[in-house]
Amino acid sequence: MEKILVVQPEKCTGCRTCELICSYTHTGEVNPARARISVFSFEKIGFSTPVVCQQCTSSACMAVCPVGGISRDDNGAMTVNHDRCLRCKMCAIACPLGATLYDYVEDKMVKCDLCGGDPACVKLCPSGAISYQDANAANFAKRKEYAARFKDVYEEVG
Ligand code: SF4
Ligand code: SF4
Repeated sequence: MEKILVVQPEKCTGCRTCELICSYTHTGEVNPARARISVFSFEKIGFSTPVVCQQCTSSACMAVCPVGGISRDDNGAMTVNHDRCLRCKMCAIACPLGATLYDYVEDKMVKCDLCGGDPACVKLCPSGAISYQDANAANFAKRKEYAARFKDVYEEVG
């Protein structure tokens, strides 16, 4: 059963703990610039939400890669094969969420790998705003909720 990270924006306080624990887990450094999850805050309306790879079934990052450098692992996470990767950044450009990133310290493309099936952001978010759910069950409800919330946000911030 493939699982994905599901965000409930209404629970997010914008504390950015998820970014800190993500970077620490993957790099040993507490540095949001190296996290694979990004928190967006609209201070004007008091709205924050983390954005992270949804491990899409039809993945733009995998489709656009010229060398087959992205594949799905046993946990369902889209992962970068660093032996093949050319660092052309096409996968970063293609992702509509901006969830494939370049790590400037290690000079490599990185993305959420679901921490091997035990996501640190889920465990450490103090508000319970991120959960790890069955992909099929989560998909419809997640998209509907996200679409409705972002429609509200864009209307509010103009
Ligand atoms: S740790 Fe949780 S509450 Fe804090 S920014 Fe991330 S998702 Fe939001
Ligand atoms: S940066 Fe690497 S993984 Fe991304 S599209 Fe280019 S070769 Fe593929």
